[in-house]
Amino acid sequence: MNAEIIAVGTELLLGQIANTNARFLSTELARIGINVFYHSVVGDNQARLVEVIETARKRSDLIIFTGGLGPTKDDLTKETVASVLALKLVEDSYVLKKIDSYFKRQNRQMTENNRKQAFVIEGSTVFQNDFGTAPGLAVSKNNRIYMLFPGPPSELKPMFQSFGRPLLLEQLEIKEHIESRVLKFFGIGESQLETEVLDLIDAQTNPTIAPLIEDGEATLRLTAKDLSLEKATKMLDEVEKEIQKRVGQYFYGYNGSTLYKEVFELLKTKKMTVSSAESLTGGGFANELTNFAGSSSVFKGSIVCYDTEVKRNVLQVPAEVIEDFGVVSQECAKHMAENVRKLLNTDIGISFTGVAGPDEQEGKPVGTVFVGMAINGQDTRVFPLNLAGSRSGIRTKSVKNGYFHLLKALLKI
Ligand code: ATP
Repeated sequence: MNAEIIAVGTELLLGQIANTNARFLSTELARIGINVFYHSVVGDNQARLVEVIETARKRSDLIIFTGGLGPTKDDLTKETVASVLALKLVEDSYVLKKIDSYFKRQNRQMTENNRKQAFVIEGSTVFQNDFGTAPGLAVSKNNRIYMLFPGPPSELKPMFQSFGRPLLLEQLEIKEHIESRVLKFFGIGESQLETEVLDLIDAQTNPTIAPLIEDGEATLRLTAKDLSLEKATKMLDEVEKEIQKRVGQYFYGYNGSTLYKEVFELLKTKKMTVSSAESLTGGGFANELTNFAGSSSVFKGSIVCYDTEVKRNVLQVPAEVIEDFGVVSQECAKHMAENVRKLLNTDIGISFTGVAGPDEQEGKPVGTVFVGMAINGQDTRVFPLNLAGSRSGIRTKSVKNGYFHLLKALLKI
């Protein structure tokens, strides 16, 4: 298939704007194996546009137009193509409804000339415009395909990727590879994650980047399309690299992974053992780890020290620590982690103490949590958390935070 691109717009001829649409389309067409032999630029002039179309239809199988689909009088691409092909323009009620709702969404009044944009060439495939009002379209006549796209690049690019490209691939009977990769994050909210990568989301059409929430965790789904699987994978690698540069400290795994699974696998790889001392989580940490078959090689046990007496008598947290700082404290979490590690003879001891609610405790508000981590040969660390949510939400988040910090620590060992 040989293609030709016709950019319509007097401002292009005057040098006021560069013809970046042609560059984009040429690149995209080359990627699917379509040769582009001509680029033309023509002003908003019907007679000259007719001449250019007449020439193009003699030498090209695919003729792509950009620009001149707007509502004003000088926008005449659609009308001119229809007249050269001797096809009628017909009003498309679906497009009209879309244009009407586009104006309503923007709190603007739809003017009469906007109706003009709801007219499409009879027998054409209409391309919805998700970023503006003028729809695009594709129409075939005498073994030639004509595709019309709006001028603004922010409208043309997504429209080409979503509608033009799949239609061409169908014509060429080409199967393309669609590769997806899910990046999972912890410790960053969905909106903050989106803000950090918003410019990448806005700029990308292939790969696309979609923020989602899965199990209360922020994730990004990257999807790349290409004829070659290798190229699609490379495209995903490149965009992932940029994302990791910005928010890599919150990243923990890919598709199908969980924090629990990552920790379990790392403990096995590093041949390390862990035990837990759990107050507000009531054994939640242990429960997640023992879900995995073979967990006995990495997990020794847990002391559920819900009551203060158990913290004192079984875990041997010094009485003065409890008296001076309370059980919901950095100091208590530190002793819990260190003591469970020693009592159960493991490489790592992890502890959870805090206020799950609904009532405050020791004057500390609901959601105050301390996660202690004692690793053989390292200084014990305590992570203070301020969690929001229901009682069960706080307990689950405490466990997940423990796993996240443990994962980060294991990665450094
Ligand atoms: P609109 O509905 O916005 O009027 P349109 O399809 O009529 O869209 P034009 O009026 O021709 O498109 O162009 C609108 C804007 O799109 C131009 O001012 C320019 O900024 C951009 N544009 C048009 N053609 C090109 C091109 N070939 N390359 C890059 N940008 C372009």
